[in-house]
Amino acid sequence: MNENVTAPLRARAEIDLAALKANVRALRAHAPGAAFMAVVKADAYGHGMLPVARAAKEAGAEWLGAATAEEALELRAAGLPGRIMCWLWVPGGPWREGIEADLDMSVSGMWALREVVDAARAMGRVARIQLKADTGLGRNGCLPGDWPELVREALKAQRAGFVNVTGLWSHFACADEPGHPSIAAQLTGFREMVGYAEGEGVTPEVRHIANSPGTLTLPETHFDLVRPGIAMYGISPSAEVGAPGDFGLRPVMTLKANLALVKHAPGGLGVSYGHHYVTPGETTLGLVPLGYADGIPRHASGTAPLLIGGKRRTIAGRVAMDQFVVDLGGDEPTAGDEAVLFGPGDGGEPTAEDWAVASGTIAYEIVTRIGSRVPRVYVGEEGGSTRA
Ligand SMILES: *Cc1c(COP(=O)(O)O)cnc(C)c1O
Repeated sequence: MNENVTAPLRARAEIDLAALKANVRALRAHAPGAAFMAVVKADAYGHGMLPVARAAKEAGAEWLGAATAEEALELRAAGLPGRIMCWLWVPGGPWREGIEADLDMSVSGMWALREVVDAARAMGRVARIQLKADTGLGRNGCLPGDWPELVREALKAQRAGFVNVTGLWSHFACADEPGHPSIAAQLTGFREMVGYAEGEGVTPEVRHIANSPGTLTLPETHFDLVRPGIAMYGISPSAEVGAPGDFGLRPVMTLKANLALVKHAPGGLGVSYGHHYVTPGETTLGLVPLGYADGIPRHASGTAPLLIGGKRRTIAGRVAMDQFVVDLGGDEPTAGDEAVLFGPGDGGEPTAEDWAVASGTIAYEIVTRIGSRVPRVYVGEEGGSTRA
């Protein structure tokens, strides 16, 4: 990678860590009674896991949340302090490493409990585990019918000194759809499953179910801890929930590229693979050096917006692996001029949400899929920008 930070870059994702910290503080204010878990899985939704985790900790996050054990172990290896939880385990997973790293490890079923107990026994250490209830997401977690066995066996392992059940938790299916009947049903189910476990003798430090929409709009879901992901990155979980500004949130990622070429083109010119765009008349074309290898959705072909020279433009024709074309309508920016694909939106640029609508997906996917070939440039910190 080019070590000269001032050199022009083909493309970059600017990550505004000051905005991220402000978002953490705004979210904390929405859930003042709860501890805060910054969800940094999937490379912090494409924003860069370690810089985001450090910034979130600085803004007061007590917990970090990851999906995989490997993510959680990387956080600990990088020296991140405090509690780190991860929830997506498969048989044969790195339980010993997780115990060594003091992770809080989610257990959704009997196979996982057996493996973590075996690892703890072999090491002579106590494993921190959190029992996950499937209260109606129908994905990971223990269904109510299997809960008594999991609770009983976890308590047995706790009394034997192999585990400490630090948490009881669950995850929503439809919290981003205000008023969806499953929200109340899941809350009732969660209270019942927590009540059962506590009645049997579990004394959890934390009970938690709230994701971003729960944190923002459903105070009754906050319990002891909230786990926002997308909102921390300044993106609303759904249009129905509201716009980021409604909650004092600001998008953290701005995706930019420098035009690789600007050229005059005649009318009737087929543009990019398949010729799905044909210039309607004499015009100018701009070449943006980003493609689906960088996470630009191919479904954005012909539809997604961007800002060039203060004007909104639309992708002309197909998004290719490394590049796409924009019809500049006769304007003549020079090669090297900046194109802003998406950002906070207050400079006239589109948002990740606009890209999601154009591409038939959700803004979560737009930011998370930005590829490793795009450098993340960290801004908004004292001492200027750094690149990772
Ligand atoms: C991803 C995830 C979150 C965060 O969800 P958002 O909708 O991004 O707030 C919280 N909890 C679990 C278990 C997750 O997998």
